[in-house]
Amino acid sequence: MNDEWDDRDASTDDALAACVYCTRLIGADPSLVLHGGGNSSVKVPFADVTGAEIDALWVKGSGWDMGSIEAAGFAPLRRSRLAELLALPSLSDPDMARELNGAKLDPSAPNPSVESLLHAYLPHHCVQHSHADKIINLTNIDRGEQSVREIYGDDVVVIPYVKPGFDLARLVTEIWPDQSTDDTKGMVLLNHGLFTFGDDAREAYLRHVELITRAEDWLDERAPFTSVGRSTPTDASPLSVEQQRVIIHLRRDISDAAGEPMLLRREHSERAEAFVGRSDLAEISTSGPLTPDHVIRTKRVPLVGTDVAAYVDAYDRYFDDNKGRYDGPLERLDPAPRVVVDSDLGLWTAGRTWSSAEIAADIYHHTMEVIERSTDHLGGYQALPASDIFDVEYWDLEQAKLRRQPAPASLAGQVAVVTGAASGIGRACAVGLAEQGATVIGVDIDPAVGDVAAGPGYLGLAMDLTRPEAGSELAQRAVGHGGGVDIAVLSAGILGRSHPIAEFDLDDWQRVHRINLESTVALMSALHPALAASPAGGRVVAIASKNVAAPGPGAGAYSTTKAALMQLVRVAALEWAPDGIRVNAVHPDAVFDTGLWSDEVLRARADKYAMSVEEYKRRNLLSVDITSVDVAAGVIALCSEAFRATTGAGLPIDGGNERVI
Ligand code: ZN
Repeated sequence: MNDEWDDRDASTDDALAACVYCTRLIGADPSLVLHGGGNSSVKVPFADVTGAEIDALWVKGSGWDMGSIEAAGFAPLRRSRLAELLALPSLSDPDMARELNGAKLDPSAPNPSVESLLHAYLPHHCVQHSHADKIINLTNIDRGEQSVREIYGDDVVVIPYVKPGFDLARLVTEIWPDQSTDDTKGMVLLNHGLFTFGDDAREAYLRHVELITRAEDWLDERAPFTSVGRSTPTDASPLSVEQQRVIIHLRRDISDAAGEPMLLRREHSERAEAFVGRSDLAEISTSGPLTPDHVIRTKRVPLVGTDVAAYVDAYDRYFDDNKGRYDGPLERLDPAPRVVVDSDLGLWTAGRTWSSAEIAADIYHHTMEVIERSTDHLGGYQALPASDIFDVEYWDLEQAKLRRQPAPASLAGQVAVVTGAASGIGRACAVGLAEQGATVIGVDIDPAVGDVAAGPGYLGLAMDLTRPEAGSELAQRAVGHGGGVDIAVLSAGILGRSHPIAEFDLDDWQRVHRINLESTVALMSALHPALAASPAGGRVVAIASKNVAAPGPGAGAYSTTKAALMQLVRVAALEWAPDGIRVNAVHPDAVFDTGLWSDEVLRARADKYAMSVEEYKRRNLLSVDITSVDVAAGVIALCSEAFRATTGAGLPIDGGNERVI
């Protein structure tokens, strides 16, 4: 481990600021701290409003990320009160959480870490705690404790695994006096992580660097291991039609088990390929997580293969076997897997949001490396027994972390494909769907589609949808990205040149039809299997036009494509209702912030009617400006539960048009 400390950045005369700096350094390294796990503290007096100085422990607040923490992320606690709490023979989790909050010297400070009492007990000025991969690699093997003693001798205190919180703090108070010396540099918590401490933040940090480097050296000597990294393999192959079929049904099964739509994200890396390709995959992947706190992100074990029903049965048995460990009634959490490993399909992670699927993948990436190294060189990987993992999975303080996350948006866990997404209505739909929580795949012939910022997990594909294979390619990419497709917004289209019928131009006519109609029906066909397997019920919304009901002269090609598109919507509504897919259209008019309308064209139209541009834009019954965002709002509403009983319909978004009405 490299010493990244830079005195120019560290504030050495302000002890809290130095601790913040040190915490950030450790938190920025994912091999030390990964999506929670780890905390820190410093003992600095708290100056209260009367001018009195109170002995205080400033400890990391729960919910703050170590990598980006600020001074406001530390809670000052009264040390004398912490000492009283530590002297108690027992303290329940809710009581401890309440008492720690009660010990705060600033009521507006965040909830103190569940490790606060342990930090308070350690006599040192600054304390840093991480869940370093390398330390866990040492302890999650046969003879793990002996290895730790062999490497560190008397330099560390070794604590067997117990669940974090009051019991762990009490255990440390029992073991510390026997094992610690004036030269103790750290404390290894088996199957959990590392504590280091010192007279200042710099010393605590340097000891972290030293102890982890010693673990690295020991591992490198006994377990020479080439990290193949997380880069995408150059020969990444697209999913076959059969693989796509398996994935969309796997996602459906996982979502059904979870009771709500889940994304299924592909972790396409060399590490993942190597791991799922092992002949001992089933055996090595089902021992358990690196540390128990990972369970809330990854579940205890991955699903090996695609049998979700068997996974759920096994989860039920695990729950029944262990539920007696807590007093009182316990509600079973959803039994859906969060990590899937399959020798043919690769590594996939499931989540209600893109970021939760990504976090599961991050964690599993580190897990695979430790498992492989231990299996191949250190006599085998050993996780904690299922009962210890259960204690943390159902620990109220861990569940509280998940509960604190904002409620999922209405389209969370869903995948939306939007064509014509580089500009205008398509772009507004992509952005709007992402705001509702959908993971969006935007498609357009314009490469600017890559720059549309439509939420986490957005994938922008520059594609010519009139190519014969474009539909199946897009379906493959969508399934490979989010595990399926729930929503398709068909917005790609052109106006074409204005020709009276007397001046018919076959090439132009065919071009408009190819883009607006043929490529759209080909895409609908290609997306049908995924839409039919949608856990939320597939939804298609086509962007038609006011021209369907009220055409104008000169736009024969455009108007006929939109009329045909509407008829297509109605036929699809009939054909796909048995699959639970709703197919509807919107009929926008006079939406001038789209690629179809340049200032020049607008000026010419306004002149034709002897109106100002502003008057021309509001030439509708309600005299309203109609924007792409208004159309997107209609599209999103059609995709929502509000329209769950509507299919085959066309919704005007035109400010009211006399000819249509
Ligand atoms: Zn910890």
